[in-house]
Amino acid sequence: MTWLLWIPLAWLLLVLGILLWYRRELVALWREPVLKHPVLIIESDDWGAGPVEPQAEALNRLVDLLTQFKDATGRHPVMTLGLVLAVPDGPAIRATGQYHRITLEHPMFAPVLAAIERGRKAGVFTLQLHGLEHYWPPALMASKDPAVRTWLEADPPATTEQLPSHLQSRWTDASVLPSRPLTAQEIDEAVREEVELFTRIFGERPRVAVPPTFVWNETVEAAWARQGIEVVVTPGQRSACRNTQGLPDCDTGPLRNGQRGPGVTYVVRDDYFEPERGHRAADALEAMSAKWRQGRPCLLETHRSNFMHPAPQSELALTRLRELFASVSDIHSGLCFRSTYDLGSAWGGAEPDMFESRLRERGAAWCVRVRLLHDMRPLAKLTGLYWLLGMPKPV
Ligand SMILES: [Zn+2]
Repeated sequence: MTWLLWIPLAWLLLVLGILLWYRRELVALWREPVLKHPVLIIESDDWGAGPVEPQAEALNRLVDLLTQFKDATGRHPVMTLGLVLAVPDGPAIRATGQYHRITLEHPMFAPVLAAIERGRKAGVFTLQLHGLEHYWPPALMASKDPAVRTWLEADPPATTEQLPSHLQSRWTDASVLPSRPLTAQEIDEAVREEVELFTRIFGERPRVAVPPTFVWNETVEAAWARQGIEVVVTPGQRSACRNTQGLPDCDTGPLRNGQRGPGVTYVVRDDYFEPERGHRAADALEAMSAKWRQGRPCLLETHRSNFMHPAPQSELALTRLRELFASVSDIHSGLCFRSTYDLGSAWGGAEPDMFESRLRERGAAWCVRVRLLHDMRPLAKLTGLYWLLGMPKPV
């Protein structure tokens, strides 16, 4: 009968072997703080330079909508605005053959700035740096694509969403594919320029950066940190280039919530709320519940384009957003509305009360996170470890 004892012993050794093999990931997941209350943030990008009237109207309607809702402590939902500060000055480019820009300081953008300010004062908008431009100007000027040249030389304000996707990346030269890295000096100068302009326009230094198209590298992060950026929004990894197909590549990761980069703290945004792509309130609520089980915040990525379409499409986007906020507090009674900066600085130690210290709650969130480890999952399922991690925890 003694041979029967070998079966559980072999199983135990196998499980221990798996845990040992994945120890780095398992420890990193344990170290990632666990939220004490559910947190929901709408992270929206591409606002600022671009079409004036549709943007101003969309922003004003978003302020009207967001101010109708509050969490248990009386805070309104926060929509972060990832801001782009300039578009091409088509007539000047036509006349000189050189790149020129029109920035948000131009009087034509006054209605957009007024709407942003209204939301900021009402506590529903927080401002984040997306980029001076949503592209690398020399890459656009070097592009051989005649449509890009036409776009550059058109009368302002241009709409950057119309550019080929790979050319919407700012922190790599995608005029050729695979893209070429920028020099540290080019990056340093461009970062200094964009931070100075942001500060002049909005009267506050940017503290959170959202890399356009999520293509950037550590040199950009270090340059941002030198200019006072404290938090970088990531999709959970960093892509440093565009490959031969023009797709984001040269990946580093995973990057986790609260992890430190060169002078910055990472925040992960990997849930999506794009009503123009068919996302409903129910999808966002499901993402919210999943993140809460993991003890993580739910950052929903969305873009201005959803809200700038002519009616009825823009109406539908607002309706979906209203449906989300109308039900999320009922499902998550302890829900907190915070900004991405608040979260990033909490992870940096500014607000320890936001995080769970009880072992049972931390352990439950850790088990959910471990079950999501993609590489480990087949082995965990084979040995039953996956099932063990999913067992209800004793109260
Ligand atoms: Zn963008």
